[in-house]
Formats: sequence, C-alpha cells, structure tokens
Amino acid sequence: MRIANLFGRAQLVVDGRLVDVERASGGRLPADPMALIPRLADVGELPVPDDAPSLDGAVLGPPVPRPSKILAIGLNYRGHAEETGLEIPTEPVVFTKLPSALAGPTDDIVIPGGRTQVDWEVEVVVVVGRRGKRIAEADAWSHVAGITGGQDVSDREEQLRALKQFTMGKSFDTYAPLGPVLVTPDELPDRDDIGLACRVDGEVVQSSRTGDLIFPIPTLLAWVSRICTLEPGDLIFTGTPSGVGLGHEPPRFLAPGNVVETELEGIGAMRNVCVAGPAYA
Ligand code: ZN
Repeated sequence: MRIANLFGRAQLVVDGRLVDVERASGGRLPADPMALIPRLADVGELPVPDDAPSLDGAVLGPPVPRPSKILAIGLNYRGHAEETGLEIPTEPVVFTKLPSALAGPTDDIVIPGGRTQVDWEVEVVVVVGRRGKRIAEADAWSHVAGITGGQDVSDREEQLRALKQFTMGKSFDTYAPLGPVLVTPDELPDRDDIGLACRVDGEVVQSSRTGDLIFPIPTLLAWVSRICTLEPGDLIFTGTPSGVGLGHEPPRFLAPGNVVETELEGIGAMRNVCVAGPAYA
C-alpha cells in the first residue's frame, strides 16, 4: 500500500492515481494522514473515482506531516563514518530533527543568506505505526507502518560549531524533505535491503543499500524505545551513506539553484530546489 498527502488529506495511490481515503471510504477512515497511520490495516481496497488526480505532477505534502518526534541516526554506514574521519560507532548515535523542518517532496529547500556549508544526506526513514516502549528487535517490524524517503539537510557550520549543535544545524525550516509517499513494508522487495540514492543537479553523489547499515532498522527501534515511547507517526531517519558534500575533496555544498533528488528503491523520488532565504545573524 502506498499513501500520499495531498493538501493535508490522506490519499491511497492506486495505479498511479490519488484516491482520497476519507471520501472513497464514505467517512469510515480519517482524512488526516496522522490519524490514518495507525489504521493502515483497515484501508483495504477503495473505489477509484473517475476524477481521481494523477500522482505524476501532484504537489504533495510530507506523507507524515506532524510527527510527535523525529529521531535521526548519525554514522550508520561504515563508508560515511570513514569519510567524516570519526570512529565507527559501537552503538547507535542518536540526535533529533525538529518536526517544523519537514517539507514536501517538491518543496523548496530555503537556504538563509550567508550560509555556505549546507549539505545533503539521503536517508531511509521509518514511520512508526503503533505505540511501543522497550520494543524487542524480533517484534520491531510489527511496529513499523511504512518506509519513506528523507533528506537530512545539514548546515555543517552550525552543526559542527564549538560544543556541537546537531539538532539546530539539521532543523532549519525546510531541511527535512519527506516522501514522496509512505510505502508499507509488505510492498517492498526486501524490507531489510532498500536501495537509496541522492543526485545533485543530476549527478549521483550517494548510492547505497540499507543492507549496509551498521545498526539495522529493528536494532534502532529497540535501542531508542528503551528510553522514549514511540508513537504512531514518529519518524526515524536511519542514517546516510558515504558521498555527502563534506566528504568530497575539496568539500562541496548546496547553493541556491541546486536541485537535490532523493530516491528510494520501491518508494520513488523527491525533487527539491534550493532557493535563497533571508540571512540571520
Ligand atoms: Zn543524517
């Protein structure tokens, strides 16, 4: 099953067309994507109205618009850990992105004036489907509603300044494009080996698979839920592979005009254009 967000209303994707879940179910199911996430098992088949819009060209919102939290994992691919010059972690490195940073799959990435070290990070994002605390690894996939794509856009200067500021450096408004759609794990060829890639102005800069994760998805759910209760709609950005701008020699960063494409196998691609925003002191 594939779920999209069109103007704040949940849509079931059927043969490349968007079916409004609340209307097509006669009100049985909610319109709000957040309310639908814990009820995906109830969706089943829905009739496709004649006027159902096409997914192609639709201006979608993030498939999960208002998560209670976004957790993100650093250094979870060996190659990326190596390119940062940091040690390979022996346990998951966790930080947060603020939900206010979320953007849709075709929204602009707004880079404030004067920021010169803004970087890309393609990531596989886990969408939690049901509440859980102290989740066992063996049980972890039963807590997952689906998978979607994410860009963990990162201002390296802000992130790596004295005392480190991971949360703020990764939480500028629009620095968390999400989508294009949420896909339930049963629809993926292999939920434990999802391909992911990032292109900047058409050039492939990152390409990997979640089979290469140091800490795989069930381990991450178990690790973070030791400490915090996971709620339906919570997001876990699972880490980025090698090829970020900071790892290039010399480093490369995003500037207004650059086009960032974020693609996950079996899920689809986002296309976000970098634009200039107002400077801050
Ligand atoms: Zn990241």
